[in-house]
Amino acid sequence: MIVKNVNNLKRDEVDKIKPYIPGKPISEVKSEYGLDKVVKLASNENPLDISTKVEEAIKKELNSIGLYPDGGCRLLKGKLAEKYGIDEDMIIFGNGSDGLLKVIAESFVKAEDEVVISYPTFVEYIFVANMMGANLVRVMMDDYHQNLPALTEAASEKTKLLFLTNPHNPAGTLFTADEFDELMNKVPDNVIVVVDEAYFEYVDDKAYPDTLEYIKKGYPIILLRTFSKAYGLAGLRIGYAVADPDIIAILKRMRDPFNVNRIAQKAAAAALDDKEFLEKTLEINEKGKKYLYQEFEKRGLDYVPTQSNFIMVKVNMDSMKLFKDLMKEGIIIRPGKPLGYPEHIRVSIGLPEENELFIEHVDKLIQS
Ligand SMILES: *Cc1c(COP(=O)(O)O)cnc(C)c1O
Repeated sequence: MIVKNVNNLKRDEVDKIKPYIPGKPISEVKSEYGLDKVVKLASNENPLDISTKVEEAIKKELNSIGLYPDGGCRLLKGKLAEKYGIDEDMIIFGNGSDGLLKVIAESFVKAEDEVVISYPTFVEYIFVANMMGANLVRVMMDDYHQNLPALTEAASEKTKLLFLTNPHNPAGTLFTADEFDELMNKVPDNVIVVVDEAYFEYVDDKAYPDTLEYIKKGYPIILLRTFSKAYGLAGLRIGYAVADPDIIAILKRMRDPFNVNRIAQKAAAAALDDKEFLEKTLEINEKGKKYLYQEFEKRGLDYVPTQSNFIMVKVNMDSMKLFKDLMKEGIIIRPGKPLGYPEHIRVSIGLPEENELFIEHVDKLIQS
C-alpha cells in the first residue's frame, strides 16, 4: 500500500490556508549567517529573563510530568476568577490564545458562515476562519485604526464571529470605550464578538474599554488574554478566554481534554503572583518605547504611537530588504509587507541595549 493521490483526499479548506511564517528562531539565524549574537525583536516576546518565582514553580513541577495535567486548570482558574471577580465557569484555558481561536472557530463557524475581520489583522483569525470554510468579510483599517462603524455595518445575519484586537497587532493602536459600546449595541444578535486583548497589560490609555464589564452584563463576547506577552511565557503556550458561562460550556466540549500542560499551568499561576516581574516588564517597555520614539523622531521616521510592546515605523524603503539586511547583522524584526504595511517594519521593544543595537544598525541601513 502506498500513498497515492493524497491531494484528492484532503478537504478543500486546506488549499485556502497559507502556512504561518513565524519569526525566525535565534539559533537558525545564528547558524545561517555565522553570527555569535542575535537579537530577536520580531515576535513581541518579553525581553526579560525568566521570573525567579516562575522558575521555582517549574522546577517543583518537574517531578510530576509523568502524570497528565489537570484538564480543568483548577488552581489557575481559581486565581483568575478571584482576580477578576467572576465565576470560574466563565473561564477556559488554551494552548496559547491561538489554541483557543481554533476551539472558538470549531465551536461556532460552519462552512459559508461569515467571519468579519479588520484588514490587515492578526493572521490567526484568517487561518481559523479558512479552516472552517467560512467566508471572510474584510473591513479595511482606517490607516492604523480598526474602523468599528464599518465593522458593525459589515456584520450581517450570516455573521458568526467578528474579530477585534485591542490593542491591534501590528498597528499597536486602540479602539475606545465609546466606539466599542456603539458596536456592541448595534451588531446583530447572531454575532459573537471576539475581543483579543493579548497586549492588555501594556495599555495605559484611559479610553480603553472595560470588556469584562460587558461580559458580566451578558453581552455575547469572548475575551482573549494570554501569558505569552507581558507575563513572559510565550514558549509554554498558555492563554485564556473569558465569556458568559453558556459560551464557555460550548468551548469546553470542543477543546482537547489536556490542552494545557502541567508546567504551563504552574508557571502561569506563579506569574500571576509575581507582581514585581510584571512591573519590571512594563517599566522596561515604557523606557524602550520612549527611547525608540525619540530615536525615530531624530531621524525623521514616522511611527505609530503604540499601546503595546511593539512599534510600527515607516522606513521609507522596501521593508523586506531592510528585514533581510538587518537579519544579516543579527537583528530580527518583522517586515511590514506580509503584515499588510509594506513600507513599515514592526519592531518589538527590547532591553535598552537591544534597542540601541537595533537603532545602530538602522542607521547603517536606512538612507533617509
Ligand atoms: C501574540 C498574540 C497572541 C498570543 O497568542 P498566544 O497563542 O497566546 O501566544 C494573540 N493575539 C495577538 C493579536 C497576538 O499578537
